[in-house]
Amino acid sequence: MRDRAVALDAADPLAAYRDRFLPAPGVLAYLDGNSLGRPPAVVPERMAAFVREAWGGRLIRGWGEGWMTWPEEVGDRIAHAALGAAPGQTAVADSTTVLLYKLARAAVDRAIDGDPRRREIVLDTDNVPTDRDVAAGIAAERGARLRWVETDPAAGITPEQVAAAVGPDTALVLFSHVAYRSGWIADAPAITRIAHEAGALALWDLSHSVGSVELELDAWGVDLAVGCTYKYLNAGPGSPAFGYVRHGLQETLRQPIQGWMGRRDPFEMGPGHTPAAGIRAIVSGTPPILAAVPLLASLEMLEEVGIGAVRAKSRDLTAYALDLVDAWLPGVEVVSPRDPDRRGGHVTIRRPGFREILDDLWERGVIPDYREPDGIRLGLAPLSTAFTEVHDGLAVLRDLVAGEPPTRR
Ligand SMILES: *Cc1c(COP(=O)(O)O)cnc(C)c1O
Repeated sequence: MRDRAVALDAADPLAAYRDRFLPAPGVLAYLDGNSLGRPPAVVPERMAAFVREAWGGRLIRGWGEGWMTWPEEVGDRIAHAALGAAPGQTAVADSTTVLLYKLARAAVDRAIDGDPRRREIVLDTDNVPTDRDVAAGIAAERGARLRWVETDPAAGITPEQVAAAVGPDTALVLFSHVAYRSGWIADAPAITRIAHEAGALALWDLSHSVGSVELELDAWGVDLAVGCTYKYLNAGPGSPAFGYVRHGLQETLRQPIQGWMGRRDPFEMGPGHTPAAGIRAIVSGTPPILAAVPLLASLEMLEEVGIGAVRAKSRDLTAYALDLVDAWLPGVEVVSPRDPDRRGGHVTIRRPGFREILDDLWERGVIPDYREPDGIRLGLAPLSTAFTEVHDGLAVLRDLVAGEPPTRR
């Protein structure tokens, strides 16, 4: 098995990119790049230079010299490198949760104002808690209803389930494109089409997709999307989220947190709020310029490599991890799709007692994620993860499961 990992690393066209991340002393296998990606190696110097020259040197002049339009410019770069979206539809701002609120609320407002009976949000029971929380909050504010689809935790939302749930009452369908637990890739074009046939809008959370799987938002007819940049886009803790609103919809939506940075003219300071034209209107307050510096460094790598090559390696990494699990961990349940076309960048495996060995894994420098119940989630970030790293990390897990005495105490 290790020979195979060595051979896969030797044949990996992205192998050199592993050295373009900062080393993590004491870490044998980082298997959580889908919760917090590793920092690109240039980030310390880029941050220091930005502080010294841009912030320190240009001071308030920096806003007039470029920062003002970073939300749309950085958004366009994400759109081009990772979303399959034409310019002018993506901006960075806020956290994923806040942007999700703004776009979902705008969509629900538009539906209810157009037809008071259209007040249902269709979502699934296995989406991340923050998405469910946001939807429930909007429902409470607007007197909307939540219509829950029960998803298979080892798989995810299907077009058939959505078709059975939508109707003339549906305002919005809200799903994750890649499920955070199972890694299931939803059929976004089919589900979006089904939403449209019912007269509803579709909002996709791309947090576990962006920078990992190929996206074609424009071609799929997606209305709205949000996602975070600290997972596979390696932009660091608290980096800004992105929001996408397709052309043709921007003029008909009004997001609920209107603020001066989303005004047509922020410095006019006059009464009333006229939203900026286009995607800029989703911005509310001062954009997180400092936090976008690492994001730009990470996007450079993705632009060089192309998302196609990233996805190809991602498929190989998850397939190799599953082979190791099958060979070494009998009795462990794979709660992720076996079909590589439906499987995103991570896999989750389950076994009672996994929680108890988590500390021992961390102690030995193996860092996966844990998701209730009993799930170890292996997030395999293609730019920064070696096949040998997957091998060595899972070998430690195998030994711990086999009851090898823990290293601690
Ligand atoms: C990671 C993730 C989020 C994160 O939201 P924050 O506001 O950045 O904390 C939201 N939705 C999904 C589906 C995620 O995977």
